[in-house]
Amino acid sequence: MTNQTINEFQNLMKILYEERDRERGIEKSLMWLQTEVGELFEAFLKNNKKVLEEEVADVLAWLCSICNLFDINLNNAAWKKYPSQCPKCNMNPCSCVF
Ligand SMILES: [Mg+2]
Ligand SMILES: [Zn+2]
Repeated sequence: MTNQTINEFQNLMKILYEERDRERGIEKSLMWLQTEVGELFEAFLKNNKKVLEEEVADVLAWLCSICNLFDINLNNAAWKKYPSQCPKCNMNPCSCVF
């Protein structure tokens, strides 16, 4: 996935849903994100690849909506925290000991 793709997708979510997202508010939108993560977990338990694909898309869509509400650019935030290396050990690949 190129950098531009996440920006474009977040912008699409803004165009499609921002007005409704603002009316709903951050708390309820965060609850919807939780619901979608739950659906992703259920898809994993069912071992259903088609449903897994749908649910990861839902999770990303809601994450983008929430970023729009917080006025956060998801692409910038992700690359800022993970600048091609692990934010904890600063290595690529990560060499953290768990
Ligand atoms: Mg879903
Ligand atoms: Zn690490």
